[in-house]
Amino acid sequence: MGKYSLFNLIRHGLSYHRDWSKTWRNPEPQPSYDVVLIGGGGHGLATAYYLAKEQGITNIAVLEKGWIGGGNTGRNTEIVRSNYLWDEAARIYEFSLNLWNDLSQQLNFNLMYSAKGVLSLGHTLQDMRDISRRVNANRLNGIDSELLNADQVKKMVPSINVSLDSRYPVLGASLQRRGGTARHDAVVWGFARAADALGVDVIQDCKVTGIKVQKGKVTGVDTTKGFIKSAKVGVITAGNSSVMAKMAGFRLPIESHPLQAWVSEPIKPVLDTVVMSNTVHAYISQTARGELLAGAGIDPYTGYAQRGSFSVVEGAVAAILGLFPIFSRVRLNRQWAGTVDTSPDACPIVGLTPIQGLYFNCGWGTGGYKATPGSGWVFAHTIANDKPHRLNQPFSLERFTTGHLIDEHGAAGVAH
Ligand SMILES: Cc1cc2nc3c(=O)[nH]c(=O)nc-3n(C[C@H](O)[C@H](O)[C@H](O)COP(=O)(O)OP(=O)(O)OC[C@H]3O[C@@H](n4cnc5c(N)ncnc54)[C@H](O)[C@@H]3O)c2cc1C
Repeated sequence: MGKYSLFNLIRHGLSYHRDWSKTWRNPEPQPSYDVVLIGGGGHGLATAYYLAKEQGITNIAVLEKGWIGGGNTGRNTEIVRSNYLWDEAARIYEFSLNLWNDLSQQLNFNLMYSAKGVLSLGHTLQDMRDISRRVNANRLNGIDSELLNADQVKKMVPSINVSLDSRYPVLGASLQRRGGTARHDAVVWGFARAADALGVDVIQDCKVTGIKVQKGKVTGVDTTKGFIKSAKVGVITAGNSSVMAKMAGFRLPIESHPLQAWVSEPIKPVLDTVVMSNTVHAYISQTARGELLAGAGIDPYTGYAQRGSFSVVEGAVAAILGLFPIFSRVRLNRQWAGTVDTSPDACPIVGLTPIQGLYFNCGWGTGGYKATPGSGWVFAHTIANDKPHRLNQPFSLERFTTGHLIDEHGAAGVAH
């Protein structure tokens, strides 16, 4: 730390943060913008940043009904990876994983991206067949992916129980070494600060209540801070996407479900990789603060409450304790949920809509955090050029009528 910043730190510390310059402005909305983006999660803010940086469009508002990152981005379990099965999905997630590499430098904000590796366990012979198919598919796409046997898993994660007479015997796993975690709050703050510096208005506490359409073209949005005119509107509202589509007069093949996570009290470092299991529907990692961070699959019912039901936590915790009996006396500290937007083929919808000038980016379900930079990049390209980038072309809304589905339930199963 240089002298100047140390001096500033002491000065600000003693001033109780009075006159501390804001990380981003807190502007009131202008009457009109070239582009309005609805949703101040990671994807919305990344879209704003790449629109300004890569596409040269800076007259942009990001409208967030609450506080930025208060949706799924600030509630997720931070896993990033790219080992998806099908070419289309593998390409967009791999593009994103490559952006994570130097995103901290790009944004000048420490995102704490840690390539600690992601293990996906197999417990049955069929699991192992599925896993090896995915490993081979990944390799054909140039994505790092390895097949481990039970001994190799045990060597990597000494605390795991691989005994064959345990409730969920571990037969092996896939490993993506470049997978890992990145700090979600930092991603939100980093993109918000960088977008703001490029002239983007990030407007919090501003709920969109209507999308105005005339003669098949979008003309602006009604908000709790008044009408805002714009000929281009991007909607990136995750679990609220079908509500937004209804405002514009069409339907999306999206269901909104609660998805939960929870953390334990902090303990000494014991787990330095991410361990997931589609079969037992649970996953776990350890944060830099020492908490064990765990989660499950979606709650089975649809809903918008950011809570979730206890039976899901109970089932997943029981499964995790089967794999890690060593954690049986660790206490849980907090539980929460987000509302995720699941599509019929477990893949996102990113692109144009039946309304001219209205674009949707949704359907990332339980696993969109890892795609944040890539999604923002391709969505910015789509909005600026009024046509999809080649990476999001396969993820159009039309695929649900043409039948060109990309079924990623296998790679997205639990799944993050
Ligand atoms: C518990 C949990 C764990 C997860 N774990 C992982 C993981 O480990 N790895 C992974 O890749 N993914 C994970 N995900 C999924 C991931 O979090 C999401 O796919 C991703 O964050 C979606 O980002 P987003 O910016 O599209 O949505 P969000 O972050 O939800 O942002 C959407 C924003 O839109 C705002 N909004 C909604 N309606 C309006 C309106 N009318 N007007 C204005 N603003 C509005 C919301 O307030 C919200 O802030 C997890 C999700 C949850 C809930």
